[in-house]
Amino acid sequence: MFQIISKQITSKVTRPASFKVFGRRFYAATSGEEFDTVVIGGGPGGYVAAIKAAQLGLKTACIERRGTLGGTCLNVGCIPSKAMLNNSHIYHQTKHELKDRGIDVSDVKLNLTTMLKAKDKAVTGLTRGIEGLFKKNKVTYVKGHGKFVGVNEIEVDGLDGNKTTLKAKNIIIATGSEPTPFKGLEVDEKQIVTSTGALSLEKVPEKMIVIGGGIIGLELGSVWQRLGADVTVVEFLDAIGAGMDGELAKSFSKILQKQGLKFKLNTKVIDATKKDNKVYVNVEPAKGGNKETLEADVVLVSIGRRPYTENLGLENVGIEVDERGRVKIDSQFRTDKPHIRCIGDVTYGAMLAHKAEEEGIAAVEFIKAGYGHVNYDAIPSVIYTHPEVAWCGKTEEAVKASNKPYRVGTFPFAANSRARTNDDSEGIVKIISDSETDQILGVHIIGPNAGEMIAEAVLAMEYGASSEDIARTCHAHPTLSEALKEAG
Ligand SMILES: Cc1cc2nc3c(=O)[nH]c(=O)nc-3n(C[C@H](O)[C@H](O)[C@H](O)COP(=O)(O)OP(=O)(O)OC[C@H]3O[C@@H](n4cnc5c(N)ncnc54)[C@H](O)[C@@H]3O)c2cc1C
Repeated sequence: MFQIISKQITSKVTRPASFKVFGRRFYAATSGEEFDTVVIGGGPGGYVAAIKAAQLGLKTACIERRGTLGGTCLNVGCIPSKAMLNNSHIYHQTKHELKDRGIDVSDVKLNLTTMLKAKDKAVTGLTRGIEGLFKKNKVTYVKGHGKFVGVNEIEVDGLDGNKTTLKAKNIIIATGSEPTPFKGLEVDEKQIVTSTGALSLEKVPEKMIVIGGGIIGLELGSVWQRLGADVTVVEFLDAIGAGMDGELAKSFSKILQKQGLKFKLNTKVIDATKKDNKVYVNVEPAKGGNKETLEADVVLVSIGRRPYTENLGLENVGIEVDERGRVKIDSQFRTDKPHIRCIGDVTYGAMLAHKAEEEGIAAVEFIKAGYGHVNYDAIPSVIYTHPEVAWCGKTEEAVKASNKPYRVGTFPFAANSRARTNDDSEGIVKIISDSETDQILGVHIIGPNAGEMIAEAVLAMEYGASSEDIARTCHAHPTLSEALKEAG
């Protein structure tokens, strides 16, 4: 995203007020200043929308309350979690696997402080990178909390203590989401943590309970399990990885159990209490039955995320949210007030950074050109465990329920030469296609680098390809992607 945006820089923007510090030009908003577009929220949806708007020649400001750009994704989400996943995987592999690969290492030790610093370094570098892109593209970055005070007016409670009012012809709400709280569990981000606390634990807990077997819970549970924690995932439903194809969810669960993660499915968490540095979590079977108390040093609450609209002043401008707190929009991202649009986690759809980015671009294109497009049938999901899980399109359960005739092609990595050579051959590729037209309806992968491999499937689906198209496309040998060709 960085490279693409920075290559598209255009100089045809109306310049906002600017000043120079140490030779670098900064763009600042003055109170009452009027913009073509104001974006509230500087996450992947908001910052991408702001840069795109400036590139299309709109005088643009982006308001962010956090003090750093990049939103949940860069600060406490995608990026720090992937840094921890990558480095915990290297640690685990070095400790447990290298010997069998002919590499003798001794005295392998975890330095958690350094690992956390490496994560923070990745975050800081990337958030500063976005500030740089704002400067290059002449986006005015306003640090503070934005609130509607009129249909074209946003008051900003600045982080510097000053209040500013910005006027805007168009406004994009991109205020994102926050962890859904669990009634009966008070988060202290030390012993009872959300994903934010779980990304910065000061020591490896002996026992960890993860409430919720969704993507975030499984990724962060894997991190701490690899670093030495005894991790139990408690899930209300009868399967993990909410949204995954059922067949793959079952094999994924077996793979993770083999790695040491424990699962308590069909289990309901009632509440938790803290005593003597431990947390006691009371659970019972989802359908009712005998209660049980589980003990842990750290409990991660990851039961999902909810839209964030606190103190945004939506009531001041008559913008409605639905029963789940999502800002209501139409197919052009317009709220009840057509010049106010909304994108990303705070509205409908998958809570994913790349979905928010796509919407950011499309919303700006609607403002500027009157048309824009996001293909919601071709948005990939990835779980960055090892092996990774990635999918795009419909699950077999969803296709079955639609009564469409379909067929399935699968290929195991155990039969893929590259995976065998790398001694990393757990997983499978599954392609579901329409049995009459052969058009691909869904692709599901568990395997090494599945998150990269899914891009080919997404592209194929964007172009309405058939499974035969993938099978007849020449793939380099020996590569993991040959498994996709074989499944086709
Ligand atoms: C642990 C974790 C791991 C994740 N991993 C992935 C992943 O691997 N891949 C993926 O695609 N997604 C991942 N996600 C989800 C991803 O982070 C979100 O989908 C994405 O950040 C949504 O982007 P957004 O721009 O809609 O909102 P956000 O990123 O939440 O950004 C919204 C911003 O708006 C600001 N804001 C809110 N209200 C105001 C206001 N009134 N005034 C000014 N500023 C305001 C907030 O401070 C925030 O910075 C992960 C999330 C978590 C928590």
